[in-house]
Amino acid sequence: MRRMTQDLGTEQRPLRVGVIGSGPSAFYAADAVFRVGGLHARVDMFDRLPTPFGLVRGGVAPDHQNIKAVVKVYQKVAEQPGYRFFGHVQIGRDLLVTDLEEHYHMLVWAVGCESDQRLGIPGEDLSGVHSATEFVGWYNGHPDFRERSFDLAAATRVAVVGNGNVAMDVARILLKDPEALATTDIADHALTALRASKVREVYLLGRRGPAQAAFSPKEIEEIAELPGVDVVVAPAEAELDPYSAEWLATQKGSAQRNVAFLQERARLGEGGGARKLRCRFLVLPVEVKASDGRVAAVRVQCARLEPDAGGTPRPRPIDRFETLPVELVFEAIGYRGVPVPGMSFDPRKGIIPNADGRVLGEPGGPVRPGHYVVGWAKRGPTGLVGTNSPDSKATVERMVADLQAGKALAPRHDAIEARLRQRGIDFVTWQDWQRLDAHELAEGNARGKVRHKEPSVEALMAAVRRLRPR
Ligand code: NAP
Repeated sequence: MRRMTQDLGTEQRPLRVGVIGSGPSAFYAADAVFRVGGLHARVDMFDRLPTPFGLVRGGVAPDHQNIKAVVKVYQKVAEQPGYRFFGHVQIGRDLLVTDLEEHYHMLVWAVGCESDQRLGIPGEDLSGVHSATEFVGWYNGHPDFRERSFDLAAATRVAVVGNGNVAMDVARILLKDPEALATTDIADHALTALRASKVREVYLLGRRGPAQAAFSPKEIEEIAELPGVDVVVAPAEAELDPYSAEWLATQKGSAQRNVAFLQERARLGEGGGARKLRCRFLVLPVEVKASDGRVAAVRVQCARLEPDAGGTPRPRPIDRFETLPVELVFEAIGYRGVPVPGMSFDPRKGIIPNADGRVLGEPGGPVRPGHYVVGWAKRGPTGLVGTNSPDSKATVERMVADLQAGKALAPRHDAIEARLRQRGIDFVTWQDWQRLDAHELAEGNARGKVRHKEPSVEALMAAVRRLRPR
């Protein structure tokens, strides 16, 4: 790396930033770059899909359109004169990390966590055991998951493992009247399967107690408000052990609101609804059992809580087991990053190793100059969409400090479009996306939905090409 001359970031010599990924953390990083006073910058944003917005398009549930509306903020960022979108470009395949280093002064990795944690228990390989990532991508029309199938027509009871907001989304989509989803941007294949679904009971399996549930109060409350759906909690499991009661007093109000809500549901009993969310606590799945090759039950080991060295209550298995009759299992126990060829990766944490957003060559190793990271790839898969705004801003502050200290890459080229064309990559520009967006909205409108998503990369690209002015 060469020390940069003083004029980098001026009108004559704008700072060129490459952002890899186009989800919330990517747009908040681009926004923060454009907002740095006195800095002249250009931002090129890459996504392997032809469409922008990452988890807002492919993760946020279709019945949470109010959360999806955040894309209006990202659209404003994309209107900045220095912004360009390069969709349908996979880094590590279409462009290598070295190509990016030859074209940009700084690179911001906003690649999220594309895979998921698995339980690692016997029976997990049965075809009726799924990760939440697959199910969420499938109902959201994410091209990667279009071919998945979930045998909802043959299941009346399912288990959802995990007590986070992803588990809440999965449980709600399974229990909700599909007609209430029909007007959203849910994928057509998912709506058809949900209409044929026989699922009536969802066991939500938490390995810790009600006080440690990771879901937001409004998410569990939303399920209880669904017509015909009861949230059922066994009174014994709603009670807190003395240590959890003491611990709860030190926690955020949301944990206290969850406990109050769950204890209230325990008092209300079974209810008269046809569909049930059965919240179980202090249960550790140990095996998925099959009958004739199909999921028939999940065996759980009961647990009690004990504080670890830092005082956090952790589950300790006890000598008591239960078998829950279920025909499908969804694991919603957290996401995990996947390595990008040529990029640093921490296999233990499943993130890009970094010190406050500055990428390290390896975990605990030296800083990798010119490379920065934001979002889930930086801190792991936690936080809501909005959490990424201050997080990306903090990384951009490090970039500005490094720029002032003369630490930036010294790119030899400024011709990424030409490089992509040379390689025969048909990239999607922001103007292409705007036409595709209008097309998806119009198609949705014609079908009585907020949006119709083209279901595959091929269909998305065919629409992009068809919509281009001749
Ligand atoms: P999460 O909030 O980290 O929840 C993961 C859950 O899985 C926790 O209950 C965790 O229990 C449990 N778990 C982990 N390993 C387990 C194991 N081996 N066995 C049993 N249970 C296990 O993650 P998430 O639900 O994937 O959500 C990711 C982030 O996206 C969160 O910040 C979430 O709030 C956000 N999100 C928000 C929304 C929304 O606002 N509507 C929707 C979806 C996601 P422990 O607590 O015991 O570790």
